[in-house]
Amino acid sequence: MILENGVVRTLDPSLPVAAGLAIAGDRVAGGVATHESALPSPERVDLGGRCVLPGFTDAHVHFLQWALYQGQVRLEGARSLDEAVARVAEAARGVEPGRWLRGTGWRSGEWTPPVEPTKDALDAVAPDVPVALMARDGHSLWLNSRALAHADGDLAVHGGVVEVDARGEPTGVLREESAWRFRRRHVFPVIDDAEWGQLLRRALQVAASRGVTAIHDKDGWLGAARQFQLLDRAGALTLRVWQSLPASSLGELEDIGLISGVGGDLLRIGYLKVFMDGTLGSQTARLLDGSGVEITSREELAEIVRRAAPAGWPVAVHAIGDRANRDALDAFEQTKDEWRPRGLRHRIEHAQLLAPEDVGRFDAVGVAASVQFSHAPSDRDLADRLWAGMTDRAYAYRSLHDAGALLVNGSDAPVEELDPLAGLRAGVLRTLDDRPGWQVEQALTVEQALLATCVNPAWLEGAERRRGKLLPGYLADAVVLDRDPLACPPEELAEVKVVATMLGGRWVHNPAPWD
Ligand SMILES: [Zn+2]
Repeated sequence: MILENGVVRTLDPSLPVAAGLAIAGDRVAGGVATHESALPSPERVDLGGRCVLPGFTDAHVHFLQWALYQGQVRLEGARSLDEAVARVAEAARGVEPGRWLRGTGWRSGEWTPPVEPTKDALDAVAPDVPVALMARDGHSLWLNSRALAHADGDLAVHGGVVEVDARGEPTGVLREESAWRFRRRHVFPVIDDAEWGQLLRRALQVAASRGVTAIHDKDGWLGAARQFQLLDRAGALTLRVWQSLPASSLGELEDIGLISGVGGDLLRIGYLKVFMDGTLGSQTARLLDGSGVEITSREELAEIVRRAAPAGWPVAVHAIGDRANRDALDAFEQTKDEWRPRGLRHRIEHAQLLAPEDVGRFDAVGVAASVQFSHAPSDRDLADRLWAGMTDRAYAYRSLHDAGALLVNGSDAPVEELDPLAGLRAGVLRTLDDRPGWQVEQALTVEQALLATCVNPAWLEGAERRRGKLLPGYLADAVVLDRDPLACPPEELAEVKVVATMLGGRWVHNPAPWD
């Protein structure tokens, strides 16, 4: 196949732009002028001046949860507890007997008057249906009495928080490990393979329509590897998956000797996921001022990294607060003699608040910064309030880039929408609305944002010579845009649209021709 008459951005400095692209099988064969004659009777696609880029990678996505949440009650944008509860009341009427009502997106910090949610508020509108509502940041779970009863009082766990009222009764809000364990035990097990399959096929279509050809998934703990495997076997997987497993699996991995990278062209199981702290929104991010919740200590992380290295597993560690990030960097630094010779590509997820002296350590230690450009403008009001006086070193993507850190971008869907073009705009403009950009000195150029979305994630997977660029021999994973984001003025970035998406030489969204 030859894509011609457009702008092909290879994202490789040796040949940044070509007028066309030749594809043979699942690979890029080369620029049109040089290789055209080598292909027997190629299919020709007229790009009509459109732009082709390497397919987008979403380097931080909870794909199963994102798929699940698309059909759930959504509480984003509710301005008060009453408004959130009214949406729950409406949704509760449609729940079949015996089923749960699941929802997401609430953020009590945005409610007026400022109150915390309670089970009583839910009991008043949904007394008979178990209700489980995840906070927008994924770190707090709001339950009604019917749902809480499933735990039979067993709510407290190391690394978790059970909110209680003046009488010592659970209020219905669980945080961190208490929230996640509750979901693992009571909310998710009722979803079977057939329901997951339906949910995921729909989600894959949406991802393809947004130009996503690869993801770094964070839902290993939820059985994502199994679900992607089932889709792959059915020929229904339309993106490449670099799958995480929870660090708690390390013992079994050591026992059986499985190493990172197992799998095939579309699905590979690659890295371990660990949590250092909570989040900004739940006020559980661990800061140098001593506040926050410690989920994994520096010593515990060092121990995980030390054990994972000979077993061949890189580690991705969630760290939001400046203390959590320092502890994570320290742990990687302390253990570097064990993992560096093995070429392991570790990463810190989020890196939202950094002490100035820690910014340069990502490059020095050799750990990638896996960030979410959309979080900066989306969290700006919360950060201005909860991290007052510290926001000049929050979401400091430009500082990280300038200090040599390898940046990769993800959406953290369902926290934000899975939409790389929205992430690109957020990284470049630092705003989501008509306000001026927030901390604009931390804005990236379009090119830097694209490298973090297309090229750098491939390196983290050890696939930098297979995908992420449109060079001869690379996998033909590409997205066609209606215009060239590198040539259009910044105010036009919001207009850029995905026209079509290709995975391994096959259209997975909107096959040509387009006019
Ligand atoms: Zn996440």
